[in-house]
Amino acid sequence: MKILSTVASVHSRKHAGGRCVLVPTMGALHKGHLELIRVAREHAGRNGEVAVSIFVNPLQFEPGSDFEKYPRPEKSDEDFCRDAEVDLLFRPLPSEMYAEDRSIYIEEVSLSEALCGRSRPGHFRGVCTVVAKLFNILSPDAAVFGEKDFQQLAIIRRMVRDLNFKLDIISAPTVREEDGLAYSSRNQYLSVEERKQATILRRALLAGFDRTKAGEKSAKAMVDLVREMIAQAPLARIDYVDLVDAETLQTRDMVEPNSLLALAVLFGKTRLIDNIQLP
Ligand code: AMP
Repeated sequence: MKILSTVASVHSRKHAGGRCVLVPTMGALHKGHLELIRVAREHAGRNGEVAVSIFVNPLQFEPGSDFEKYPRPEKSDEDFCRDAEVDLLFRPLPSEMYAEDRSIYIEEVSLSEALCGRSRPGHFRGVCTVVAKLFNILSPDAAVFGEKDFQQLAIIRRMVRDLNFKLDIISAPTVREEDGLAYSSRNQYLSVEERKQATILRRALLAGFDRTKAGEKSAKAMVDLVREMIAQAPLARIDYVDLVDAETLQTRDMVEPNSLLALAVLFGKTRLIDNIQLP
């Protein structure tokens, strides 16, 4: 596995040919990332190049959030990538990615207003800017993103469409712990009690899913159900629970085909997100 940290070294790399498939991450790698790497290999083929980027992107953290304390386990991430048979690990420093006088950003202005955009102003601008840069630096033929960050995936697809990036965006399903909690680098912030209570998120989303299957059409009834379930966890503080159109991310009044039930919930300072596509 090649480990590169500069843009110049990536540009001058040689790879055997075949497709390059990129998995952008912020590190602290877990089984969710492993699934993305597996999907990347499937698309790259044996002779292709699977590239993982690890970059804790300062631009997508709001002031006062967890940028400084975001986990950066360099050695174990490196071993993780080697074990997963990654071909290229790109791990730049912020100074390599951002000139001090940078003055160009990429901003998606519609999908970014919904869901997480309401409580994380500037977040998706930071995401789009760094992902566009990674696409330019690594020139992948495809890139893999997780459905756990459903809004991010939708925004990246929109960016690729609207700015004519020449690559395929591939999505991978959410990987969960046995008790249903979605893997996240932030789960390690949870106390034992918060971790226990966090299982309510998946159970609440599944209850919503079942209610839809049983014929519920009212979005408000669904959101109320999910909120009431989460309220049973005393350490949970709801940021939002929303039922949206999975294409436009606009809030819906009625459950229709292609609806997404999405939530963000805080346990202490740890903000967890999850979602489910409704039947
Ligand atoms: P992150 O390192 O948290 O920025 O995530 C990097 C990529 O991994 C994003 O495309 C995420 O959607 C994806 N990802 C994170 N957690 C999971 C998970 N539990 N299952 C599947 N994909 C995930």
